[in-house]
Amino acid sequence: MRKAVQVVGMLVFGSSVVAPPGDAQQRIGWTGGSPFERLDLPAATTIRTGAGRPGPDYWQQRADYTLVASVDTSSQLLTGSGTLRYHNNSPHTLRFLWLNLDANLCDPQSEAGVLSVPPLLFGDAVFDFSCQGGSGMTLEHLTVGGHSVGHRVYGTVARVDLATALPPGGTVELEMAWRWTLPEYGYGRMGRDGTLYQVAQWYPRVAVYDDVSGWNVAPFLGAGEFYQEYGDFAVALTVPAGYVVAATGTVQNPDVVLTAAQRERLARARRSESAVAIVTADEARQARQRAVPGTRTWRFVAHNVRDFAFAMAPDFRWDASTWDGTLIQTFYRPEATLWEEANRMSWVSIKHFSERLARYPYPHATTVEGPNEGMEYPMLTFVPRGGSREELYWVLTHEFGHEWYPMLVNSNERLYPWMDEGFNTFIDIGSVEEYFAGEAYGDTIDLQPLHLYALHALAGREQAMALPPDEQHDLFWAAYFKPALMLHLLRTEVLGPERFDRAFSDYTEAWSFKHPTPADFFRFMEDAAGAQLDWFWRGWIYSTARLDQAVAGVVLGGDSTETEIHLRNRGAMVMPAELALTFADGSKQTLRLPVEMWKLGPDFVYRLPAGRSLVAVELDPRGVYPDDDHDNDTWRAPASGKGPPGR
Ligand SMILES: [Zn+2]
Repeated sequence: MRKAVQVVGMLVFGSSVVAPPGDAQQRIGWTGGSPFERLDLPAATTIRTGAGRPGPDYWQQRADYTLVASVDTSSQLLTGSGTLRYHNNSPHTLRFLWLNLDANLCDPQSEAGVLSVPPLLFGDAVFDFSCQGGSGMTLEHLTVGGHSVGHRVYGTVARVDLATALPPGGTVELEMAWRWTLPEYGYGRMGRDGTLYQVAQWYPRVAVYDDVSGWNVAPFLGAGEFYQEYGDFAVALTVPAGYVVAATGTVQNPDVVLTAAQRERLARARRSESAVAIVTADEARQARQRAVPGTRTWRFVAHNVRDFAFAMAPDFRWDASTWDGTLIQTFYRPEATLWEEANRMSWVSIKHFSERLARYPYPHATTVEGPNEGMEYPMLTFVPRGGSREELYWVLTHEFGHEWYPMLVNSNERLYPWMDEGFNTFIDIGSVEEYFAGEAYGDTIDLQPLHLYALHALAGREQAMALPPDEQHDLFWAAYFKPALMLHLLRTEVLGPERFDRAFSDYTEAWSFKHPTPADFFRFMEDAAGAQLDWFWRGWIYSTARLDQAVAGVVLGGDSTETEIHLRNRGAMVMPAELALTFADGSKQTLRLPVEMWKLGPDFVYRLPAGRSLVAVELDPRGVYPDDDHDNDTWRAPASGKGPPGR
């Protein structure tokens, strides 16, 4: 630990030259490169502009699916078939497609299966990205126009060679048939608990082909959920007749799958801002006892979504309400009593995010209670039962936050988890503040990311958040809470809330239903907020730079000379500084110094007008920064008549 050098009483007569204190004399400018250097971003193009917006030539592929599947609850076998209509909107001719077969994470021969990677420490929990046994997906056939197409499966991906190349503007219809024995535990993303099924990543999904990387194919190791194209889905799910299905998309055949009473209650829920029971607790318990023979087919349609998931159980309680035309639904088992509040929590979450980011774009927002730690799909989220209201709200609002990042703003989580989990964790804090306003949880949650800094940002062990999720040892920090702290400081300390909020919501609108990259985000924020932020992204995203601002000393002035406050940036990270000044007459002043203070080097002298008798200086008086050494943050004038204190 290094104490501040204290220089006091150095009154200067005649000359205006004041020797700077301590070793600052040797430190003129930055050594080893300025933190303000421009980042080396990919060149702007007519696809992605220098302003960080989609350009006039922006394109992205489209993938529409028509799927038919049945689930046999005695064998756990999911049998599926259907068509992927793939639209090549790129200017390139494609001779092959890549499919993601995430289910093959459960195949002992997949990369993750062979390596048998141990569970990842995740905060104070562990995250098991394995399948704990189980098996992969069997592709039974892939055809185009009735003719079999060559394909090879490599672990969790498959290459499909097209007999006829797909030209720009062309569409290919790939007919697929597959089966998959649903695992009880599906890498924390899906699975089942008795008769409750949460089914996701369950069909062959075409990989993203984009202007940045071409085909985005990498083995799925469990971390980093997925990166998908948008499209329309028509899905028919055949399940035991006694089961209720919740899914991405809108039910097309309510007359077949719902009772008259359920349809009437749903109609009422569409006019109600508070929860209406579509299936009551008693009805759910009775349904559990009743064996209903046969099967029933539920038909769903979803527009402009990047995936399709579903859940089913015979004994769901089902509540629904409506916010601004959006149906808010909660499905839970009778034992999940905390969930009687979940519909209200969902309603507040969807409204909160819609009002701040971009309006929720889908006809319903549905949450299902179940065995997963929490997982998000378009219109549908999985949330565990929860041990307290606070715990339930945190996960519930977090999974709904994903409807914005990445369901609406579709960045690549397999590469940039901070743009997905991180943006989401940042917005979740505001949602908790609204729901729990006046309660300890709501009134203190904004301190959580800073509190976690001390526990997770361990010097020498921390990794840059720019790394992909499957290279992160501490994903909880690097992908969730460090990005939340970063954006919180960008908002409150660098740009100010008004400037940040407008730029961030404009970014969300501009990239809705599109694929932004980090460079697009950086450029957009700089353009919309009118700031150069290379230093900020470099410090927070591309490095593990640490912050240590210090009061190096004070040269007291007199009635006609300025007082100098010597500040030093001892760490590799630069940030703005806030100073609380106390004067001899007891008055106080707060100074907020913009980050440009460090442009000429790590030493900065703030000049206080003559005639003010300074007695104390304190850096970061609100304690908002993750400063490495608080011992050098303050300066106090020695008692009058005595020399500098001898320490
Ligand atoms: Zn998440």
